[in-house]
Amino acid sequence: MTLAYVAIGSNLGRPVEQVEQAFEDLGSIAQTVLVKRSSLYRSKPLGYADQPPFVNAVALLDTALPPEGLLDALQAIEARHGRSRSFANAPRTLDLDLLLYGDAVVDQPRLVVPHPRMHLRAFVLQPLVEIAAGIAIPGIGAAQAMLEQCGDQSVERISG
Ligand code: ADP
Ligand code: MG
Repeated sequence: MTLAYVAIGSNLGRPVEQVEQAFEDLGSIAQTVLVKRSSLYRSKPLGYADQPPFVNAVALLDTALPPEGLLDALQAIEARHGRSRSFANAPRTLDLDLLLYGDAVVDQPRLVVPHPRMHLRAFVLQPLVEIAAGIAIPGIGAAQAMLEQCGDQSVERISG
């Protein structure tokens, strides 16, 4: 079994409900247990700004699936939430990103772990350090230190 962290994001179709449902869906993945869930946070969109705010959270899973199998499961959940892939940083009903898979480093065409932009995003780092204080991102450094460098990004906790 391997501990894996997954980022959850939504800004369409009642985002709080999408994220709550996503936690349940993550807990239903084969050979996988939902171990911890962060609070929900609200963040301003990065990149393409003319869209609703996002609701974000992070889940800790314990899984016997290999990283590619876990990504398949995450993409199947996104599809069930009506996710359509339009353009980078577009609004979405549900985005599930595999942040960390144990201390593995994966660099494949369809899967890069640690997620290559996670250390630049307060909406990922804030919920991550909430449930994993002291965690390090392989090849990058302490998540808390990375979060402190994202001080210009607005992220607020909206529920426990
Ligand atoms: P983004 O989350 O960056 O806005 P998408 O969710 O549309 O973009 O994902 C685009 C592609 O990123 C997916 O098809 C997937 O194969 C790839 N990908 C690479 N690494 C990861 C990862 N760690 N987690 C999720 N998707 C990843
Ligand atoms: Mg994604």
